[in-house]
Amino acid sequence: MPAEIIDGAAVASKVLADVAISAAALAKHGVVPGLTVVLVGDDAASAVYVGAKEKACHAAGMNGETIRLPATTTQAELLAVVDRLNADPAIHGILVQSPMPKQIDPQTVIRRIAPEKDVDGFHPINVGKVLIGDRDAFAPCTPAGVQVLLEAYGIKTAGMDCVIVGRSNIVGKAMASLMIQPGPHADCTVTVCHSRTRDLAAHTRQADLLIAAIGKPEFITGDMIKPGAVVIDVGVNRVDDATKKTGFRLRGDVHFDSAMEVASFITPVPGGVGRMTIAMLLRNTVRAAEMSGANLPI
Ligand code: NDP
Repeated sequence: MPAEIIDGAAVASKVLADVAISAAALAKHGVVPGLTVVLVGDDAASAVYVGAKEKACHAAGMNGETIRLPATTTQAELLAVVDRLNADPAIHGILVQSPMPKQIDPQTVIRRIAPEKDVDGFHPINVGKVLIGDRDAFAPCTPAGVQVLLEAYGIKTAGMDCVIVGRSNIVGKAMASLMIQPGPHADCTVTVCHSRTRDLAAHTRQADLLIAAIGKPEFITGDMIKPGAVVIDVGVNRVDDATKKTGFRLRGDVHFDSAMEVASFITPVPGGVGRMTIAMLLRNTVRAAEMSGANLPI
C-alpha cells in the first residue's frame, strides 16, 4: 500500500489559524505581536521568503515589517540596527535573513539578537535551551515544524529509531535535539548521519523515522528505506526543468515515487515541511509577545 501523504499545507494553515486567535487575544490587551525581518542585500530568493513572511504576519493580524539594507552594509551598521530592534518593546521577534553578505559574520549577528526575541531559535542560548529541554526555548522553525507534522498525523514516535541525515545547526542537529527529548512527539533513539558516515544506507534502513536534510535532490531512494517507515523530507532543491516558466522545479532530498512504495507516511516537496517553517516562525513570535508580558493581565 502506498504511503499516506502528510499534507504540510493543511497543517500549516491550522497553525496559522491558531496564531491568529492568539494574536487577537493579545490585541485585546493592547499588544500586537510584531516580527521584524532584516534583509541585507538583494538576494532574489531571500526577497521572496521575506515577502512571504511579511504577508503571513499581516494575514494573522500581526505587525510584520521588513528592513531592507544595501549589500554594502557593514557589520557595525547591521549590529546597530539589531540593537535598536532589541530595545523596541513593540518588536517581539527579530530575524536577520540568511545568506548575509560576506563582510558580515552571521554568528556575530545571531549572538547580538536578544534571546527572548530570537524567534528563529538560532541564538546559542536557545540552542542550549532546546538541548536541555527547557520549555521557554524557541526551537528552530523547520525542525519544530516537523514535530508538529508528526503530532498532527498522530504518529507515535516514542521508542522509534530516528535517523536524521544532515548535521547542520539549523536543521539536522536541531532536529536531533528535539527528537531525543523525553516527551510527546519525541522520545526517539536518534542517529545523526552526515557526509562522513560509513554505509549511509545501512543506517537509513534501520530507521522507523527517517528525516532527510541533505540538500541533494532525490538522494534517498526507496531501497534505502525500511518498509513502513515514516519519511520526512526537509530538502528543497531546484532541478532544471525547461517545461516550467521558471526553468526549474522543486525536488526534495527523497526520491518520492520509490519512497512512496515503501514508507507508511511521507512528506511531499513542495507541500510538506516547507509549508511549516513560516507558520512556526509566526507561532514563535506570538509566544515571544506572550512571554514579554507587557500590558498583559497577570
Ligand atoms: P547544509 O548544506 O547546511 O547541510 C547538509 C547536510 O547534509 C550536512 O550535514 C552534510 O554533511 C550532509 N550531507 C551532504 N551530503 C551527504 C551525503 N552524501 N551523505 C550524507 N550526508 C550528506 O543544509 P541545510 O541543513 O541547511 O539544509 C538541508 C536541506 O533542507 C536543503 O535542501 C535545504 O534547502 C532544506 N531546507 C529546507 C527548509 C524548509 O523550510 N523546508 C529550511 C532549511 C533547509 P557534512 O556536515 O558532513 O557536510
